[in-house]
Amino acid sequence: MLKRIKYVSRFDKPLSADAIEEIGAQSQKNNAAMDLTGLLMSSGGLFYQVLEGPAEAVDEVYGRIVADGRHTDLLLISTENDVERAFPDWSMQTINLDAASHVRLFPLKALIKAVFEQGRLMENMMWAIERTVQHEMRRDD
Ligand code: FAD
Repeated sequence: MLKRIKYVSRFDKPLSADAIEEIGAQSQKNNAAMDLTGLLMSSGGLFYQVLEGPAEAVDEVYGRIVADGRHTDLLLISTENDVERAFPDWSMQTINLDAASHVRLFPLKALIKAVFEQGRLMENMMWAIERTVQHEMRRDD
């Protein structure tokens, strides 16, 4: 049973192109050994990652990723089960969209920023829903 997750996050502090490449290389090595595949893009201080493979392996690696101090404000966008791989040939294709060599992919920068901002907006709206319910239900008590 294959699982796929997608998340966005923000660099904790500025990361050099080399540091991003190092994360990609470390991911490729680990993922190949765990039958994981996916895509890691960085742009304007943000990460967008798709991680797919056996559910247990996805959960284990995602647990490490969440605890990684190199990024913060991590927001899980989607979790899918019983999926087929979208990126079967990529142990972790790592693309730094801020590198000039990826100029044809530049339009994706705006999309990743929009996903991150929409995610924050959704979080704020959910917070407002929960606070309002709590406040109003307390008034009824
Ligand atoms: P270790 O042996 O613990 O570390 C190997 C090297 O990585 C260290 O020498 C160090 O240079 C560097 N390193 C590890 N953790 C840190 C840290 N917190 N800060 C600075 N340097 C560090 N891992 C995967 O296995 N698969 C993934 O798909 C994956 N995606 C990631 C995506 C993002 C955006 C980030 C930030 C990290 C990702 N990682 C991924 C890395 C993951 O968070 C763990 O660091 C890694 O899995 C630990 O593997 P290890 O035990 O082999 O490394």
